[in-house]
Amino acid sequence: MGKKGATLLGVDPLILADHYEIDYQHSYAQDSPFFVGLTKSRLLGSRCSGCGYIFATPRAHCMECGAATARHELPKVGHIHTFTTCYYGGEAFLDETPFTLILVGFEGVQSLFLSRLKGLTPEKVRIGLPVMARFAKTPSFKVTDVWFEPANQES
Ligand SMILES: [Zn+2]
Repeated sequence: MGKKGATLLGVDPLILADHYEIDYQHSYAQDSPFFVGLTKSRLLGSRCSGCGYIFATPRAHCMECGAATARHELPKVGHIHTFTTCYYGGEAFLDETPFTLILVGFEGVQSLFLSRLKGLTPEKVRIGLPVMARFAKTPSFKVTDVWFEPANQES
């Protein structure tokens, strides 16, 4: 592999091995405060200025009425609304498989927050379990800067 081109690994189906590497820039635009908030151990959702709907994940405009939203800090403790166990995942998560994805519900918040659950084996995960947000000590400005653990665990 490398800069010479792809290596043919098979023909039925056609399978190629190649190298892929790019440098790029991207912007979080109006979602920037959410990611900056994670570096300060804050979960910043948004609240509709029109109807008051609170989104656990930031939205520039309300999906219910279309009005602009403002940042709204979420509680750090919620509960597991539902979950799934992943036995395969993207490259960043392969070392953690199996891992649990959860939808977190918060008191007074109308939508759910997708995150990872750590600190509990998949067979012990239950709907309704209280969970607490945890934040990376060295942020990478990615959604992996936050995850949840059972709320009764101290660290
Ligand atoms: Zn609204």
